[in-house]
Amino acid sequence: PRPKHHHHHKTKAGGSTIGGDAKVKVAVRVRPLSAKEKKLDREPCVTMQDTQTILHNPKTEKRKVFNFDHSFWSVNHEDEHFVGQEHVFESLGREVLENAFQGYNACVFAYGQTGSGKTYTMMGPPQRQQSQLQKEELGMIPRLCDDIFARIAANEDETIKYKVDVSYMEIYNEKVQDLLNPTQRGNLRLREHKILGPYVEGLSKLAVNSYSHIKSLMDQGNKVRHTAETQMNRESSRSHAVFTITVTQARYFAATKTTGEKMSRISLVDLAGSERHGKTGTTGMRLVEGSSINKSLTTLGLVISALADNSAAGKQRFIPYRDSTLTYLLKDSLGGNSRTVMVATISPSTFNFEESLSTLRYADRAKRIVNHAIVNED
Ligand code: ADP
Repeated sequence: PRPKHHHHHKTKAGGSTIGGDAKVKVAVRVRPLSAKEKKLDREPCVTMQDTQTILHNPKTEKRKVFNFDHSFWSVNHEDEHFVGQEHVFESLGREVLENAFQGYNACVFAYGQTGSGKTYTMMGPPQRQQSQLQKEELGMIPRLCDDIFARIAANEDETIKYKVDVSYMEIYNEKVQDLLNPTQRGNLRLREHKILGPYVEGLSKLAVNSYSHIKSLMDQGNKVRHTAETQMNRESSRSHAVFTITVTQARYFAATKTTGEKMSRISLVDLAGSERHGKTGTTGMRLVEGSSINKSLTTLGLVISALADNSAAGKQRFIPYRDSTLTYLLKDSLGGNSRTVMVATISPSTFNFEESLSTLRYADRAKRIVNHAIVNED
């Protein structure tokens, strides 16, 4: 077989929602009050109006107003503004899918404190296995997968053949663990391909042909994650979970008897909890864990700030991608070749006011980043 040549071409820049140059899209989602919070709090400290999100602390009278691409109010079902899983997918996931089939990379990452709804948004209710969920409860990842296969099944163009692969990894303590291959031990190495960008060497990439196949792999991966958690005394809230779907489209051109390939990578990232770990007086191993997870999240913050500055002022600040495993692997998704969506999840409780404020400040910087997406084809 001949070597692959990747001809990158830029599409028009600007307002187009498909490919090209575009800002990172940022959404904020506020979950319901938990049973415990309900007893303590009479009213949530968050209100939303169109794209506006307002944080208001009744105790201190502190009030902050933010504007994002989307504000998802998921506090109570009774409210007419309530937004469920399907709406979140229609607003964010649909476009990711559209981009992927056009040959662009895409990334969705969930950012927020532990317990704010990151896993719920990405996967669905975290207490139960994927295979046990009701349709409305399904999160972004299962919906995306479902739609990818529905689209492939509906394809009537016989000159196009599709291939879908998935990988699932966890970044814990700056090390990468393969969640689809539990026998793999130790730290997988990071590498960088000249054209396709950073990747994890030796990470399993499994071909899948249905959503139920993906579902069982995800359940398996989550079990591995959970086992590591109990056996090695880890906290999953301190690790980053990265689920990657690669869609390859091979097209046959009858006139020239040649084939061309388009490849796109969809990265779905459930980040570690954004809360500060310093306060609790951690020692020993826990301290190491805390500090290296902070390292990935801190570096992500620095990368976001530097990129936002560069986009806003046309500056050329150095971007410290290489300073952490997470930012190294997300390099493409942040300021690079990808269409990227960030979902900032927050609690509605007054007790979490400061954490919610810090999450929204983080998200506010991310929305200024401009990505330059190009089609991966040869
Ligand atoms: P995180 O991943 O940020 O730690 P989780 O996704 O585990 O948070 O959510 C914490 C709890 O809140 C879970 O019990 C989850 O089912 C519930 N929850 C989170 N977001 C929502 C939502 N939008 N609607 C209903 N329940 C939610």
